[in-house]
Amino acid sequence: MTEARANDLALALAGLPLAARLRRIRQAFEGKLVFTTSLGLEDQVLTHLIFREGLDIEVATLDTGRLFPETYALWADTEMHYGRRIRGFAPDRIAIERLLDDQGINGFRLSPEARKACCHVRKVEPLRRVLAGAEGWLTGLRASQSTQRQGTGVLGFEPEFGLWKINPLFDQTRETLADLAGRWSVPVNPLHAEGYLSIGCQPCTRAIQPGEDERAGRWWWEADARRECGLHLAAASPAPDESRRA
Ligand code: SF4
Repeated sequence: MTEARANDLALALAGLPLAARLRRIRQAFEGKLVFTTSLGLEDQVLTHLIFREGLDIEVATLDTGRLFPETYALWADTEMHYGRRIRGFAPDRIAIERLLDDQGINGFRLSPEARKACCHVRKVEPLRRVLAGAEGWLTGLRASQSTQRQGTGVLGFEPEFGLWKINPLFDQTRETLADLAGRWSVPVNPLHAEGYLSIGCQPCTRAIQPGEDERAGRWWWEADARRECGLHLAAASPAPDESRRA
């Protein structure tokens, strides 16, 4: 994908409805495409469209080992509902055992560094395996999810993983997606109705209060409003220079 083609694609995608966006994305890339889902509302809508349209896009999730029981139940329900597999990627066993030796079972509360170490072992390292060999990585990121994600665009080169990061929902609102999920009978996490708008690992997620940022319930004990788990530190990056283009 050259920079010129990526720019053309980004312009074209912005004017399309969601299903057509995904079809266009699949057509535009020759290589493997992977969609990583956390089984939240946004990701469930994308999963629905990928499965409904029969698109050749791998759907995978990071099984951190600390997810809510409701999330595991939704994972099973979604596979049953669509008759398709959502691939699960677990952390490396030895790295987990070292982490537990170092910081204990809930050591991520001790400091931002300890929390990032846990996220690295349970999320970032498995993500590298999920994305190995892929040309494009689809996510459910939206620009309106948080201040940190305001700069999210539809398409950008992700130097950390050496591939194109594609955010088909970048311009969507939560209300629009909730409406679509209802109309299409998409299975969703019951925790959303209890104020958990952004759902990650159970010990690191709480319900939010009215007026709070959608992601305020993630790692709420940390003061840094820019907190992320390490998967999405750069919302959208410039296209690669000539030497890095595939
Ligand atoms: S969200 Fe919490 S439990 Fe999950 S990987 Fe990060 S620090 Fe660990």
